[in-house]
Amino acid sequence: MPIINRISAFSEDMTEWRRHLHKHPELGQQCHETAAYVVDRLREFGIEEIHEGIAISGVVAIIQGRSEGRTIGLRADMDALPITETTGAEWASVNDGKMHACGHDGHTTMLLGAAKYLAETRNFAGRIALIFQPAEEVGGGAELMVEEGVLERFDISEVYALHNMPGTPVGQFYTTPGPIMASVDTFHVDIKGVGGHGAYPHETRDPITAALSIAQAMSTIVSRNHYALNDLVVSVTMIHAGTADNIIPETAYLGGTVRTFDKDVKAMVKHRMSEIVAGQAASFEVEATLRYDEGYPATINAPDQTAFATEVAREVAAEGQVCDTATREMGAEDFAYFLEKTPGSYLFIGNGDTAGLHQPDFDFDDATAPYGASFFARIAERALPLEGA
Ligand SMILES: [Zn+2]
Ligand SMILES: [Zn+2]
Repeated sequence: MPIINRISAFSEDMTEWRRHLHKHPELGQQCHETAAYVVDRLREFGIEEIHEGIAISGVVAIIQGRSEGRTIGLRADMDALPITETTGAEWASVNDGKMHACGHDGHTTMLLGAAKYLAETRNFAGRIALIFQPAEEVGGGAELMVEEGVLERFDISEVYALHNMPGTPVGQFYTTPGPIMASVDTFHVDIKGVGGHGAYPHETRDPITAALSIAQAMSTIVSRNHYALNDLVVSVTMIHAGTADNIIPETAYLGGTVRTFDKDVKAMVKHRMSEIVAGQAASFEVEATLRYDEGYPATINAPDQTAFATEVAREVAAEGQVCDTATREMGAEDFAYFLEKTPGSYLFIGNGDTAGLHQPDFDFDDATAPYGASFFARIAERALPLEGA
């Protein structure tokens, strides 16, 4: 069975919502207009129980089925990115320097599509919690929602989410049980030496030489401290120092990112970094301090819910277009916080041959929306079947 007929019948509405959202992107926790637009649509669909201001500008709405049962959470992220759009589309961003370059406009639209269908039909036993989350890219929206107790407050027993993926055909879904997206940590090293004249380096303690050496040594964590068949990325992505060609500066800074799926690997990296920074600093007679910030945890799909979600995807996807053995990604996703507390699954949905995520010429493909909306709708109907149905 392909996408749900009733949903494809209002796909033009979804395109209109999506383009409105695309035109008015908002960043981080400040998704107030987006949330207001979502709430207006939900009211139009006849949904009465709507909770606003969750995790600052998030929305949770409840659709009651025809009889009692469990509550399933369906989540969409709403925030955009600080990028200047170059698509030239009629619906291009009117908010300077902000853009929906990760397709969260499409994610919000897919969940709205499911909401419209589910509010009309209510062919399920229990409740659907529609979770519209701000601040996926930065600002910790999911973490805040979990901290505010969204899962307990609405008694959510399982959660599901979708993310579009450029370069994958429209109508295709893919996922994997277990780890699917990496954890993301950042590290920051401040080095303090003794500055001086570039012509008399012997009178200085050069922080640049120390920074380069620390960066080199950090690259050996992956190649020399880590088991080769386990996934790990350590990238130094910033080195800042100096103001002129004849001055050895007093300070230098370097920073970067660590991606892994495994808490023990993360602990090893942290430990090695502190040893490297201390050891290199001593050898160059400079002071260096390491700050290691833990960010989003790894996104870990629950096996049973992922098997179920894959089955549902097969119902709505194009023929033969579902893969449940996808390669995990070194990118990160804050849906991880929901999955730490509640079993569920995160899937990718094809966005066709578009520019990549976070690029200024990216656009969500409106043809994707009916597939995503049908997926969410069928998750509800299949997870919460009516008796005798
Ligand atoms: Zn993104
Ligand atoms: Zn995204």
